[in-house]
Amino acid sequence: MEDPIGIDVWGQIRKGFTNEVVKFLRECRPLLSELEIRKQINFSVMQGKAILIIERVGWKKAQQIYSFSPEWLFNILLLQEGYIPQDFEPLSKYRDYCPVHHVYFGGLGGCYICSDFFVE
Ligand SMILES: [Zn+2]
Repeated sequence: MEDPIGIDVWGQIRKGFTNEVVKFLRECRPLLSELEIRKQINFSVMQGKAILIIERVGWKKAQQIYSFSPEWLFNILLLQEGYIPQDFEPLSKYRDYCPVHHVYFGGLGGCYICSDFFVE
């Protein structure tokens, strides 16, 4: 039996909030150094790309971040763990996306939240 699936939360960073984002990401991604976090923030701001905010969280935590939606975070993407936004490009609301749960998923099994195979 496979393990239930977690969620990776990605998002784009708005310019001008570096200190807030550093503080948040230090908690969410404790394995990254502050230098690496600052590089990622800069990458997102300058390139207009989403970065990984937190990985392998349960559905509840992902929902919290999605609805909490801090001022500095936009284009929040909920991805099946292990995927990156480029896996779903062009990002489409009709392919590999569940409009009920706002989740992008891989594989042929459809939305794994709908099919009740997820980490609470
Ligand atoms: Zn769903």
